[in-house]
Order: sequence, then C-alpha cells, then structure tokens
Amino acid sequence: MTDSLALFLDFDGTLVDIAPRPDQVVVPPELPGALARLRARLGGALAIVTGRPIATIDGFLAPERFDVGGLHGVEMRRGSDVAGCEPAAHPALRAGVVALAHAVADLDAVLIEDKGCSVAVHWRLATPTDAGRAQDAIERLAADLGPAYRLQRGKAVAEILPATATKGHAIRSFQQEAPYAGRRAVFFGDDLTDEKAFVTVNADGGVSVRIGGGATVAQRRLLQPEDVRELLLRWADGAPIDPGALPLA
Ligand SMILES: [Mg+2]
Repeated sequence: MTDSLALFLDFDGTLVDIAPRPDQVVVPPELPGALARLRARLGGALAIVTGRPIATIDGFLAPERFDVGGLHGVEMRRGSDVAGCEPAAHPALRAGVVALAHAVADLDAVLIEDKGCSVAVHWRLATPTDAGRAQDAIERLAADLGPAYRLQRGKAVAEILPATATKGHAIRSFQQEAPYAGRRAVFFGDDLTDEKAFVTVNADGGVSVRIGGGATVAQRRLLQPEDVRELLLRWADGAPIDPGALPLA
C-alpha cells in the first residue's frame, strides 16, 4: 500500500492552524520529523503544495527539507531539482504591485504579501470597509493585467498569480517523475483554492481530503489541522496508510 501512494499536503489550514498573520503560524515541534518519517515510508513521495514560497516552508519545517510546489506551482522543488520564480519575467505584475501597495497604504490591518511572481492581499484583521477596499484594489489590478494572470480568492485573502499556476498543475507535474510517477495521488487541502486541485486529483483517480467544513468536491473530510497532524503522526509511526478509510466528505 505505501509504495502505491503519493502524498500532497497543503500547509496553512491543513498542516498548521491559520494564524491572524501569515508569519505567526505555529509549527508543532513534532511535525517536521513526523513528515520526514512518513516520507521515508512512502519512498520519498511526499510533497508540500502551497501558496507560500518554498523558502518560507523551509523556514517553518526546519531542519527538515521537503519537496515543495510553492506559490501554487510557480516554484517547484523535487529533490535537488529546482525551478524558481523569475520576477523579471513579470514586468506588468511588478508595476502593478507598486500601484497596489499605494492603493491600500492608508488601510489598517491590510497586508500585501509580495512573492515576486505573484502578490497577495490579506485582510483578516481589517474592518469590513477596509477589507472591501482592499478587495476592490486587487480586483482592479487583476482586470488590468488581463488573461495572463488569474485572481484567486481565499479566506480573507486574494491573490494574483500567473494563469498557469495552480496546485492541480503542480501535483500533476510532480507525478511525471520518480518517486511520484505511477502512484495514486492523495491531496489534503482546506481552502477554496484547493477545490480545483481536488477536481484534478479526483479526475486522475486519486483521493481528495478536505480539511474543515463547507461545500466541497473532495471525497473525504477531516475537521481541523489537529486531526490531520494526529493522522500523519500515526501514519509516520507505522499505522496502515489508508486514506480511503477516512470519513466521507
Ligand atoms: Mg490552506
């Protein structure tokens, strides 16, 4: 069983609890080691698939280092093979980020996260009025940038990304090569942005697992990141890896 599965894990809201600010996420100390043990059981076929940059994930999961599809697949690292983001290839986006920072400068608790080849606006702690203005600003920029980019809405966040960057695409890209090729994909995610990847994983005959409540196209469901961590710890320490036995969504 363990040599037939490839595990793909979202980070925020899936492995760790959502924090008021993205830099305030708390990683339980046992998590990186457990993921490394589980990766060994899976013959190396375990990757983090996230909207965060690879470097940020490395910081959170140190001293371990994992395969990562970062920035929704704009950055990919498999073993020592790295394909990065080239901000210089995105001149219109770079100009747009400057304009966007200007547009939200006077809004309280609205954060811009500039990731080089994508940009996110966060408003988790903002008033509804400021949240609305932040949302308008990023929607205007997305409209100006046109079809080469896409706007992705999440929980109190919206992000502009290259149109080709999706988690489903990142998962399929991992599966083109060893140790992922030929294995059944299992993807855990929590957000609106993960729903499209669930569609891809379902279409490819994999197992999709939604974390938290709400409508979903995923097959299975766990209620919170703590449940995910408990499950992964059990799998890391020798329990049968059987995602098909998880509660139905
Ligand atoms: Mg998430």
